[in-house]
Amino acid sequence: MATLEGAVVVVTGAGRGIGRAIAEELGAGGARVVVNYGSSRGPAEEVVSTITEGGSKALAVQADVSDPEQAARLIEQTVAEFGRIDALINNAGITIDRSMRNLSIEDWNRVIQNNLNSCFYTAKAALPHFMEQQGGTIVNISSFVGHMGNFGQANYSAAKAGIIGFTKTAAIEMARYHVTVNCVCPGFTETDMYTVVPEKVKEQIVKRIPLGRVGTSREIARAVRYLIVDGDYITGQTLNVNGGIFMM
Ligand code: NAP
Repeated sequence: MATLEGAVVVVTGAGRGIGRAIAEELGAGGARVVVNYGSSRGPAEEVVSTITEGGSKALAVQADVSDPEQAARLIEQTVAEFGRIDALINNAGITIDRSMRNLSIEDWNRVIQNNLNSCFYTAKAALPHFMEQQGGTIVNISSFVGHMGNFGQANYSAAKAGIIGFTKTAAIEMARYHVTVNCVCPGFTETDMYTVVPEKVKEQIVKRIPLGRVGTSREIARAVRYLIVDGDYITGQTLNVNGGIFMM
């Protein structure tokens, strides 16, 4: 995509954290942004205000993307409002961290449903529109944990590894419609998800990061923007934005 100007983008989980930074980054570039939220209505409306004050268009849409019908409605509402969809950013995610001894079946299923299945639901709903348009792009937000694993995150690491596999197959299948599909794998990033980590653990984490600090949401958002704007010949790939904590 040569320019973001006027492009229609959907960002899931865009009221807070990394999703918010992605929505604001793309909106600042001139994209028309659908700001999806699950429960953070007020924050999502703030994102819409920021984007519209910057001169572009935005719309907050509530949808729990772990529910296939709501995920499909999010895409249909986007097309009804803006007439097309150019980019889908699957960012919504949750953690329920417990060692396997304590991890319940429900904890496992909820994390898979919210992080992994949601990506399939939105992509499946967007596919007919991408086919009709003969173009589009998907960026899935995975995690370095999908490569490395992490104590207490069997469910999350499985979901995030699943996203990487899903991305590759979707890239192969959708290339014929001129659709690219890629992943961004953030390292530890300063958001609510990271804030809940105990201070002592944070000190240990920073020691493991070669660049000596956690990342910012803006740094993840810039990587997403790069894939959307300059990634026409990039598909099925994983872009690691992690300060060096994991190297392929
Ligand atoms: P966060 O601050 O906890 O925000 C999570 C976002 O996901 C919220 O906007 C939330 O929306 C949304 N969400 C969760 N379940 C949803 C659902 N079913 N439907 C719609 N929205 C849903 O997390 P974050 O750090 O920004 O994480 C964003 C993504 O980056 C996630 O996929 C996460 O796994 C990944 N990631 C984060 C880090 C990190 O260190 N922060 C590292 C690697 C990867 P509501 O508040 O509206 O419910």
